[in-house]
Amino acid sequence: MNTRRFYGLCIPLICLAVFSPGCEEAQNDRIFQVSTLQALMLGLYDGETTVAQLKQHGNHGIGTFNALNGEMVLLGDKVYRLRSDGQAEVVSPDTKTPFACATYFEPDVKYPLSGGRNFEQLKKALDAWLPTTNLPYAVRITGTFQYVKVRAVPKQKKPYPPLTEVAKTQPTFEFENVEGVMIGFRLPEYLAGVNMAGYHMHFLTKDRKGGGHVLEFKARDALVEVDDCRQLLLLLPDAKTFAGLDLTGVKEEDIHAVESTTQPTTQP
Ligand code: ZN
Repeated sequence: MNTRRFYGLCIPLICLAVFSPGCEEAQNDRIFQVSTLQALMLGLYDGETTVAQLKQHGNHGIGTFNALNGEMVLLGDKVYRLRSDGQAEVVSPDTKTPFACATYFEPDVKYPLSGGRNFEQLKKALDAWLPTTNLPYAVRITGTFQYVKVRAVPKQKKPYPPLTEVAKTQPTFEFENVEGVMIGFRLPEYLAGVNMAGYHMHFLTKDRKGGGHVLEFKARDALVEVDDCRQLLLLLPDAKTFAGLDLTGVKEEDIHAVESTTQPTTQP
């Protein structure tokens, strides 16, 4: 896809700027998103955007890969695949994604996470602490964890089943006494369907050898960093399959089912 066409497809969905920021600040406060969660849930698992293109929009991001081949972490200038065997690997720049989000991470605030706090407790504490839950936030949690439970989607074969079916069979993994980083976002409820409302975090171990989509954790000593984002740039798929999807049929309970589904756990 040539550059002109690529940017021609970028549809600014929401611009929440209260004042007019400078160009650089505007880009730093922007979340760039490929496709929508509803489209992914309906089985649109093949996209045209490469991770090289995604990296032009940030150094902090999450998503998945074509054929739903693992969970994605974008950290710095590298994109990692968190595979369905619990292992992590760096992917090549031409690897494609059907669904991903990226931003330039510049934390506005830091929140120390005391030992023993779990994911649910952190969500409640952060929600109460943030100035508003009406803005999207990029979130990063760095440190040591007593326990982290993750899952990773396995590569799918055509004809692709919907994500609700895939979620029933995806493996989960547990890490104990592990150092690493959680990369993700907290999105407001009004974006449900376009993306996952609430906290969506992917874990990558410090040695960059393992990780997955975070289901649960218990912190030992960690720091939470938060970057508010007031713009969302949505790149919709250039595919007949997207044009033909019935995006009115995705139910909120299906989205929550995909978020919370857990399976028997194995060690990575
Ligand atoms: Zn995820």
